[in-house]
Amino acid sequence: MQVAPLVYFYPFTSPQENNCNSIIIDGPEKVLIDPGHKHLWPNLKRQIEEDGLNPQDLTLIIHTHCHPDHMEAGEILEFDYGAIQSLSSIEAEFLNGPGRDFFPWMGLDNPKGSIGRLLTPGPLLLGDKTLQLYLCPGHTPGSLCLHWPEAKVLITGDVIFGRSVGRTDFPGGDHSALTTSIQKLSELPKVELLLPGHGPAILGAEQVAANFKAVHAYF
Ligand SMILES: [Zn+2]
Repeated sequence: MQVAPLVYFYPFTSPQENNCNSIIIDGPEKVLIDPGHKHLWPNLKRQIEEDGLNPQDLTLIIHTHCHPDHMEAGEILEFDYGAIQSLSSIEAEFLNGPGRDFFPWMGLDNPKGSIGRLLTPGPLLLGDKTLQLYLCPGHTPGSLCLHWPEAKVLITGDVIFGRSVGRTDFPGGDHSALTTSIQKLSELPKVELLLPGHGPAILGAEQVAANFKAVHAYF
């Protein structure tokens, strides 16, 4: 569903399965953030098409981090649609090390695709728009959050959710780093829509600010 001009949000709501929320940023360069699990891709594909978008037009896949519930379907988009998969450089390194173990732990095949683009913190040019990438370690070592100041949108992956924060008890987790990351995000100006990696979107500047305040209980 469209949640802001050029921004589409696909929340995952089934209590039976774990999958992440997915997001598309439309425009001359169409980006899919967090494609989710492979076996759930047909559901997401249908929703994307129902919104009048064509998955064939997706050029770049940004994984906020390398957990399988966020990135497993990336290889379908790479092999079947020609999209480029991307991760932060630090997360790509993690995926080549202990991060890879999440796949067999979850009974999944190791990823067969390739990370065709390494992302670094700072501006990310997408056609006619500029997003800002923030390295937000804590849930994983190289988690990325995306801020699009013009649209007042913040995409947080598993760093912060509605009234909750990402878990830090998995390999690569670091609670103190997570609190620093969340503090940094809370200082960003002009966020009126926060799209987390799980759970509902947080709409309105006041609600976003209240949510940052509420999660201080986890610090
Ligand atoms: Zn995660």
